Amino acid sequence: MKALVLEKVSLLSLRQIELDERLGPRDVRIKIHTVGICGSDVEYYRHGRIGPFVVEQPMVVGHEASGTVIELGSQVKHLAVGDRVCMEPGVPDPHSMAARLGMYNLDPSVRFWATPPIHGCLRETVVHPEEFTFKLPNNVSFAEGAMIEPLAIGMHAATKAALAPGDLAVVLGAGTIGAVTTLAALAGGCSRVIVTDVKQSKLDLLAKLGPITPVNVGKERVADVVADMTGGWGADVVFECSGSPAAIAAVFEPLRPGGRVVLVGMPGGPSPLDIVAAQVKEACISTIFRYAHVFDRALALIGSGKIDVKPLITDKFAFEDSIRAFEWALDMPDSSVKAEIEMPV
Ligand code: ZN
Repeated sequence: MKALVLEKVSLLSLRQIELDERLGPRDVRIKIHTVGICGSDVEYYRHGRIGPFVVEQPMVVGHEASGTVIELGSQVKHLAVGDRVCMEPGVPDPHSMAARLGMYNLDPSVRFWATPPIHGCLRETVVHPEEFTFKLPNNVSFAEGAMIEPLAIGMHAATKAALAPGDLAVVLGAGTIGAVTTLAALAGGCSRVIVTDVKQSKLDLLAKLGPITPVNVGKERVADVVADMTGGWGADVVFECSGSPAAIAAVFEPLRPGGRVVLVGMPGGPSPLDIVAAQVKEACISTIFRYAHVFDRALALIGSGKIDVKPLITDKFAFEDSIRAFEWALDMPDSSVKAEIEMPV
């Protein structure tokens, strides 16, 4: 089948590739409709690696996808041919200790699309387990369906934050992950989210999506803004979504005593965390790695209208233009958030 293949660092080709596409009894075959371009896909294109994961052989990219079920394994129970679906891209070993403990995202043997050496989904069809394939509500488009994967990260972060109704949250970073974390935090009960970035156009876009206060940290300090808003007390929760070492170093500044911090963004290397600043506030610190158990909830929130991801989908490309799309994504304009690739019908 035809696929967008990362041959090696900085070299993509749109070509035929032979893949093992045997359908197991509990698998479905899906014709891909829409695939989002993720920062991680672009990172593999640019550097050939992310942390310990290195591209050593040609790999199909893409992991944020929606499509239509075209074939069922013999034991599939909950899906039918013709169902519009989105897919959770990480499939764990169900017998692993992590999976048995409910933390299947942390299974060391998880097979995650477009994480070397596992092929991704920017191709004509995929075979995927039924239990990691989710039916789209009728009012949810393929474009929105392909946004469930990034939204799942925000959902997992909001879950880890154990939000209470009325919480005031700070989200550091207004890229895709900051944006979906903001939407998930509002859906999870936050009264207001203060979002920071240095890129004004990203802040302007987000500020329209709810009770969201944008703070351009090139011009003012977020801790000052939060102090002003709370009489010096601080925010209940801080989500670090920028991965910036400077933001991480100052992550406890806007936090209230006894508040929670969730580390979402992945810095490029070791990053300083101010332990004493955490201790004097008895901050509760959580981390997340991808997500678990949130795809159905993310779909329910989009289906019910509590979350609208459509404004975040800023750019579209045709499959035939995939290479150009990735070149564009290497130097994406500040006004863009999420680009999606649509397969030919
Ligand atoms: Zn992604």
